[in-house]
Amino acid sequence: MGKLFQKELKEEQLIELFSSDEKCYEFLAELKWGMGFTCRKCGNTNYCPGKTPHSRRCTKCKAEESSSAGTIFHNCKFPISKAFYIAYNVCKGKEELSTYEFARRLSLRQMTCWNFKTKIQQALTNMDSLTETEKSSIQKILS
Ligand SMILES: [Zn+2]
Repeated sequence: MGKLFQKELKEEQLIELFSSDEKCYEFLAELKWGMGFTCRKCGNTNYCPGKTPHSRRCTKCKAEESSSAGTIFHNCKFPISKAFYIAYNVCKGKEELSTYEFARRLSLRQMTCWNFKTKIQQALTNMDSLTETEKSSIQKILS
């Protein structure tokens, strides 16, 4: 499977991602725009930094896009680093963790973990119905 956790991430990279929202946004920005930025609204390829970490703002139409927009982490209601932790463990974990275990480790509500874990699992089983960006965001986590 494709891209989100495509290569095995190194232990240090994972620890960094799981402990820093900023690193997660950076990771997604690299994933989305590593090959170059194109504005989703107007197709312009010039940008300046947006308001949130690693977001980008089109210099022409001023549309701002966060690095998580269009990925499975979009509209995530809890810290993205925790979402990465769940996504990585669901995709690559050596043992299956229960949503209770995620909740305990991440100090989140069990229901929150359940919802996100389900979202990841559904994405994995329905890869064909995803948009390209969603797909590549999952694929990069996988491998
Ligand atoms: Zn634009």
